[in-house]
Amino acid sequence: HEPLVEVNHLKKYFPVKAGLLNRTVTHVRAVDDISFAIQPGETFGLVGESGSGKSTVGRTILRLTDKTEGEIRFKGKDLYRVSKEEMRRLRPQMQLIFQDPYSSLNPRVRVGDAIGEALIDHGMASRDEIRDVVEELLVSCGLSSYHYYRFPHEFSGGQRQRIGIARALALSPDLIIADEPVSALDVSIQAQIINLFRKLQDSRGLTYLFISHDLSVVEHLCSRIGVMYLGSMMEVASRDELFRNPLHPYTKALLSAVPVPIPKLKRERIVLKGDIPNPSNPPQGCKFHTRCPFAKEICTQQVPEFRDAGAGHYVACHLV
Ligand code: SF4
Ligand code: MG
Repeated sequence: HEPLVEVNHLKKYFPVKAGLLNRTVTHVRAVDDISFAIQPGETFGLVGESGSGKSTVGRTILRLTDKTEGEIRFKGKDLYRVSKEEMRRLRPQMQLIFQDPYSSLNPRVRVGDAIGEALIDHGMASRDEIRDVVEELLVSCGLSSYHYYRFPHEFSGGQRQRIGIARALALSPDLIIADEPVSALDVSIQAQIINLFRKLQDSRGLTYLFISHDLSVVEHLCSRIGVMYLGSMMEVASRDELFRNPLHPYTKALLSAVPVPIPKLKRERIVLKGDIPNPSNPPQGCKFHTRCPFAKEICTQQVPEFRDAGAGHYVACHLV
């Protein structure tokens, strides 16, 4: 199977001014040499605290921001080398869903027109055909056809996210990059939206890159999960493997903070010391060493290799 998305040694550095009179330019290493692949039809979860670089990974895949180094392939094509025409053809096949759909909806545009907009822009449907297509999208996203003529302010948060999803689906994409799509919603609504993601995946054969700071959300939806810290990938494994047998101390710490329903399964609580270091000046060696309860001398000096610990379980830690 060819992966739908392949990210190879991706780096994204942002220049920032620093120092006396802001005369020095340093770089925030938002994404610092990460590699992973997403297979067609799977849901790959990218987790990490805010500032870990996970949103930047999503945005560089969509080319909403340019990479600094590395390679991104979509359907085997190098997205930073294809012709303009080819990119125009590929672009609609990848869509973004974000945390707050309301901010991207024009308050004066009826939601049906907002959903249909892209179809007209891409010449994929005429004004007359739009209505049927959009009504079908509304219904498949758990709304009703009569919502077509309503305005964004008439909808609840969960409904607005359904509109955001319907709009992302209008061009029949293969890949959806969802960046914290349920983080702003109540827990009960989160479950409904996650179920919708799952249902749409089955009916439309979608592939998801699901970005979240919340491991319990990711657990419900993702088949594989990557854990990021300060721009680096610390661990990648299948969902079951990651939850049953986490290998990286950072993953263990994140998991130990997730409440479990059965007290017997309760994990040893690992409390991290300190705060996330400044990403423009990350620690040498293992970036996690300033907070890792198991850090050894070598961790402060050598960057741990990201390697296969068996059965597709990858980890970057000297102790594993
Ligand atoms: Fe902790 Fe060292 Fe492993 Fe980094 S390499 S996670 S500091 S034990
Ligand atoms: Mg983010």
